[in-house]
Amino acid sequence: MAAVRDSSFERQAPEADAEELARRHLVQPWPYAGSIGSEARGLIGSGDGIYVTDGEGRRLIDGPAGMWCVNAGHRREELAGVMYEQAMRLSYNTPWYTMNEPSAVLAERIAAHAPGDLSHVFFTTGGSSAVESALRFMQFYNNVRGWPEKKLLLSRGGAYHGSTYLSASLNGRPRDRDWMDVADGLVVKLSSPDPFRRPEGMTVEAFADQLVDEFAETVARIGADKIGAFVGEPVQASGGVIVPPPGYLPRIREICRDNDILYVSDEVVTGFGRLGEIFASQDVFGIDPDIITFAKGVTSGYFPLGGMLVSERLLADLRRSNHPDAMYAHGLTYTSHPVGCAVALANLDLLEGGILDHARAVAPYFQERLKTLEELPLVGEVRGVGLMACVECVADRESNDPLKLDYEVGKRIDAHCHSLGLLVRPLIHMCVMSPPLIISRSQIDDMVAILREGISRTMDDLA
Ligand code: PLP
Repeated sequence: MAAVRDSSFERQAPEADAEELARRHLVQPWPYAGSIGSEARGLIGSGDGIYVTDGEGRRLIDGPAGMWCVNAGHRREELAGVMYEQAMRLSYNTPWYTMNEPSAVLAERIAAHAPGDLSHVFFTTGGSSAVESALRFMQFYNNVRGWPEKKLLLSRGGAYHGSTYLSASLNGRPRDRDWMDVADGLVVKLSSPDPFRRPEGMTVEAFADQLVDEFAETVARIGADKIGAFVGEPVQASGGVIVPPPGYLPRIREICRDNDILYVSDEVVTGFGRLGEIFASQDVFGIDPDIITFAKGVTSGYFPLGGMLVSERLLADLRRSNHPDAMYAHGLTYTSHPVGCAVALANLDLLEGGILDHARAVAPYFQERLKTLEELPLVGEVRGVGLMACVECVADRESNDPLKLDYEVGKRIDAHCHSLGLLVRPLIHMCVMSPPLIISRSQIDDMVAILREGISRTMDDLA
């Protein structure tokens, strides 16, 4: 690999500092109406390994790995170099009439890790467009098969699947929907598989039975001839790292198979090493979906790339159909982007070359150390799997009462941790931790020590 060249390009000096420019010109993601278009957020200037440096030059552990994505860590010369080389060789080609080599090679490498007969990839620009592509594929598939009525979508409370119209319509958290329009008539919502919030006195096994019964009854009530797909994250990530009860996902998979309902496993977060495997669907949860969506970790966040991995059986059904000329009228200018696919190939080399092994080796230590935070009275539960975990705070440990939302406890913990050297992803009364997969045991100790102190200081604030 060629060394990364020093840039001879001198960027024009900005007329004001970044915060001022952001306030004047940036629309930030997830803004409130009261501050939209006038908001600056904490500046991050650089990154290295598991660390980032903020606007004041403070080094912070990147607790959420960006947005669950910087799996191989920041400032990897292997990844930067490949992007430079690929951009110098071919920075773009027209995917309508031509193709490039990195995308074909990457599709083959990804399919080799896939469960069942998931053999083909449609590359997108991220997770939302991957989920959107899968949903539109289901609609096309059922139209071509002569089932135009079979289009309803099943999703669950606590789900997050994206910010495009259809993908966002699947989202289950109230805040994601309160002020937004969604395709409500297309989506049927089921309960979140959250064992921590199961009915009082119910065993986890009985809770799994209840979830499966709800699913089966919903299919029976609506009719399988109306339902096109179930979409679910193996572990609900943004919903608070909800690890489903054992055996529940395979049972849902069987109901889908029996009723010709496509099972779409959204691995945008869980894929590419977060749970120690390239895909968690089969290797961790024992399911073979019809479609897997992925993004984020596929390039370790170095390039906006995602994709949907689709079953050969579905493609064969389409090829065999009575409508050989029907078109899946779906494409993106940046599908199969050569630079994105090249960096994803280099990222796969890193994951397969040791990072996956490392992630599997340190995951139990990561979970064990974080679990010690349950000693703190504010903490109701620490849960997780692989290198993703959530600290859920409660007002009352007896009843596991969620804290009053206006406390925004997650934000308070994040603010304290920031001053102590750790970035946290706050979710109302929860803190999500999903560091780069290269984190060492001693760095896990540092992370947990800071988080403990941040939570303790928050308890003092609330006292
Ligand atoms: N699916 C899941 C499970 C996600 O967590 C996300 C984003 O966090 C998405 C889809 C959407 O991905 P993107 O933000 O890349 O569009």
